[in-house]
Amino acid sequence: MRKNILIGNWKMNLENKDSVDLVNKVLSNLADKQKADLVFAPSFTELHAISNICAKYNNVFVAAQDCSVNTKGAFTGEVSASMIAAVNVSHVILGHSERRQNFDESNLIIEKKIVNCLSNNLKVVFCCGESLDQRKKGEHFDWIRKQISDSLFSIPENQFSNIIIAYEPIWAIGTGMNAKVEEAQEMHSFIRSLISEKYGSAIASNTLLIYGGSCNPSNSLELFEQTDIDGGLIGGASLKAGSFLGILDSFQ
Ligand code: PEP
Repeated sequence: MRKNILIGNWKMNLENKDSVDLVNKVLSNLADKQKADLVFAPSFTELHAISNICAKYNNVFVAAQDCSVNTKGAFTGEVSASMIAAVNVSHVILGHSERRQNFDESNLIIEKKIVNCLSNNLKVVFCCGESLDQRKKGEHFDWIRKQISDSLFSIPENQFSNIIIAYEPIWAIGTGMNAKVEEAQEMHSFIRSLISEKYGSAIASNTLLIYGGSCNPSNSLELFEQTDIDGGLIGGASLKAGSFLGILDSFQ
């Protein structure tokens, strides 16, 4: 049985006071029966403060938005997976399209970062997604297959439960144009079938697959109702307590 999960990716927004205020506002308004695990992904500078607050709650976790491909040493400005794990962070988002596009992250670099995270007992939120041009040309399934097989399929079977896959069509991120529910379900189902081919149906049916791209309280219900969509990776709508809680409320 898969448990729903909702992740707020704050990107490079919210300095210390605003981060702490937002997390406190969300947590003080949590319903008694929280229907999904909740994950906050603040910037590196806020990880420690936010993880201290979340430590008092069950089913509330903290994610880093990236980690270094290196493990230790003379890499000025980098933050390693072990440093992230040391401040009680449990998840790391890897392969976000903004990192692929703006920082030239290849499938191979992402694969190395995943290895670093798994060896530090961190769960990985692996992002994949196609451009509008690729979708229009009908190349989206091949593209997603390649992103997933290049970066994830070297992971040993017994570690795959530490992987959450976020399908985020690039054309839907921050544009206000979410994927149609049928398109989203179709791709999530395709991703689950890829995992099944590689790791078998038991692992595939236990893997969390989530949707990201202009998800908000008005479209989250129908997205999360889909058979293969287990939650959301939320950008813009995670920056306000009201909209993030509104999305959380849409889990059945
Ligand atoms: C994201 O960047 O992961 C994202 C889903 O952003 P938004 O919700 O703003 O489209």
